[in-house]
Order: sequence, then structure tokens, then C-alpha cells
Amino acid sequence: MTDRRTELAENLARVEERIASACAAAGRKREEVTLIVVTKTYPASDVRLLHELGVRHVAENKDQEAAPKAAACSDLSLTWHFVGQLQTNKARSVAGYADIVQSVDRPKLVRALSAAAVHAGRELGCLVQVALDAESGRQGDRGGVAPGDVEELAAAVDEAPGLRLDGLMTVAPLAGPYAGRQQAAFERLMEFSSRLRADRPAANMVSAGMSADLEQAVAAGATHVRVGTAVLGVRPRLG
Ligand SMILES: *Cc1c(COP(=O)(O)O)cnc(C)c1O
Repeated sequence: MTDRRTELAENLARVEERIASACAAAGRKREEVTLIVVTKTYPASDVRLLHELGVRHVAENKDQEAAPKAAACSDLSLTWHFVGQLQTNKARSVAGYADIVQSVDRPKLVRALSAAAVHAGRELGCLVQVALDAESGRQGDRGGVAPGDVEELAAAVDEAPGLRLDGLMTVAPLAGPYAGRQQAAFERLMEFSSRLRADRPAANMVSAGMSADLEQAVAAGATHVRVGTAVLGVRPRLG
């Protein structure tokens, strides 16, 4: 059996190759795209190996798993992204270790994260998660704010003490008009990003694309891709 370090190194090399090809095909520079490795359901020892292999951005989607993992890796220089649906009662905990929360999707969560960041004396980067298939006033099935509510939520983040508006995130919808049309979905997200950047040029992060559709995200203009399975392997359970 090959050891875990070798397995991760090989997987990372393959993902790196995919990102590089997608950048070349889109006429983009490789440095324009940051790889975030989604380490959910995998142990802190894997995070450590990934760090040794040069990974600097990791993501988690559940506070109860992420908090101890981040604590176990606090000696490593890593940027921690939180990408899961987040209850307001976890905001304190998440603000203690996360550098960027990518799943900001409602005013109540903005208020909770703001209070938590101020309490922790930290500045928390925030991405507004867009649910491209949600109707105004409603949330997406996997979190996210409806397209028509993006601007208002972005403004709320922008005004909240302790929070920094960094940009937008999406997960390609499984149902609705964008089902199976990842690139169209990501291009739509880019339109919202352009609008956002017109007033707030610093909010230029666009997080889109996972193991199955990172090429489409890079083609559309994503600045960050979130890759789990392709680096770490198929997760033992849904996470
Ligand atoms: C799990 C997860 C990913 C990574 O998905 P893979 O298909 O394993 O690459 C990306 N984004 C979010 C929000 C996730 O929850």
C-alpha cells in the first residue's frame, strides 16, 4: 500500500495539472487561481501532510469538526475557510479560527459573525454565498442567498464591524435552470461579482468549482476553487 503522503502528493499533482490546463485554455495566469483543499471528514494528520506538500488554504464545513482540527494545526501557517451552512450559535467558535467565512447568507448571521469577530478581536473575511436557483427572500437548499438579495447582504457585511467583504461564493445548483450547466452558473456568478466590484473593488474573490467542475469555474473566471475528493479521496460518508 502506498503511504498517505505519496497518495496526497499524487492527487495534488493531478489537481494542479487540471488547474494549470484550465488556466491555459482560458488564457489566464496560473497565479490568478487559488486552490483551497476541502479537508472535511479527514483528520488533522492529513492537513499536516497537505501543508508539507505546499497547500496553504484549507476549508471545513462543520464547526464541531473544524474547531479541534484547526486547534491541532495552529502551529501551521494556513488560511482556514469555513464553507458550510452555519448556525448563529456557532459564530463565536468559527470566528476563533476561521480566516474567511464563505457561506454568509443571511442578515442574522452577519450580525452574529460581526459580534463574534469584535469579541475575538479579529477581522473576519466574508463571502456572500449565492444560491443561483433560489427565489428572492428565500434560501437555497444548500444555503446561500437568492440572487436578488445579494446586494443588500453585501452592504450589510460591508457595514458590519469586524467583518471584511471579500467577494462571492457559489455551489453549482443540482436542480432548476442551472442543473447540469455549471459553466453557465459560474458565469452568472461572475456577473454578480462584476456588479459588486464596481462599487467595492477589493471584494474580488470569486469562489466556485469543486472536484467535478473546477475547469468550468476557471473558465468562467473564478479566483478560488474548493477541491475535496480529488485531493483526499472519496469521503467515507456525506459531509
Ligand atoms: C465538500 C465541499 C466542497 C468540495 O467538494 P468535492 O466534490 O469533494 O471536491 C466544495 N465546496 C463546499 C461548499 C463543500 O461543502
